[in-house]
Amino acid sequence: MSVMKKLVVGNWKMHGSRAFNAELIQGLLVADLATTAPNADVAVCPPCVFLADVADALQGSAIAVGTQDISAQTQGAYTGEVAGPMIREFGATYAIVGHSERRSYHAESDQLVADKAKAALSHGLVPIVCVGETLAEREANQTEAVVGRQLQAVIDTLGDDIARVVVAYEPVWAIGTGKTASPAQAQAVHASLRAQLAKATPKAADIPLLYGGSVKPDNAVELFSQPDINGGLIGGAALKAADFAAIARAA
Ligand code: PEP
Repeated sequence: MSVMKKLVVGNWKMHGSRAFNAELIQGLLVADLATTAPNADVAVCPPCVFLADVADALQGSAIAVGTQDISAQTQGAYTGEVAGPMIREFGATYAIVGHSERRSYHAESDQLVADKAKAALSHGLVPIVCVGETLAEREANQTEAVVGRQLQAVIDTLGDDIARVVVAYEPVWAIGTGKTASPAQAQAVHASLRAQLAKATPKAADIPLLYGGSVKPDNAVELFSQPDINGGLIGGAALKAADFAAIARAA
């Protein structure tokens, strides 16, 4: 079992405004997570347009910032895309790639997600690679096959650099639904992801595996105490400072 620090990342999705963000950040700063959640590395991923504001507001705090997506390209005629060097310029540390909402609403393929992970690494950002099955896939006993396929594309594309990513297991049926995978269900998938990573790198034990899907203050402790769960990717609860701080403290 790994003894790494937990990683707790907030995905704000397409929420917020300058006023809302300022209040949320104020709440997080007052929570003093460096002192009250010493076992957690914490990051928030606002919509890209707020990255500069949020990075400025969090400067000097223990909370890192990231984006919810990244272009696989470095620059050029890619209307609407945001490239790694731009993200990096605002002091971001992380880039989420392959969130299920992007896979389903933007038709992102396993290979595109892998290319985005590669782009993130090449620009000094840590990719948080999301994988997860739909309810239909779980009911058809396809969970391990689906997440295994999604992860394998990233392993094949990154080679040895797979050791530098974060992986987030987010069952699609648990995202924003209030349904959480049981700690045992989540642990079983995390163990299979860890075993797959171990075939690709001797450093698999050091790769943070986050669970995401309706994590709340009242279920975080049990989820985070599973041997292969190294933290969480938090959606809805990341929009409430008290809840997000409580989840960080659960680590
Ligand atoms: C997410 O979208 O990454 C997520 C886990 O959302 P929620 O916590 O709201 O289920």
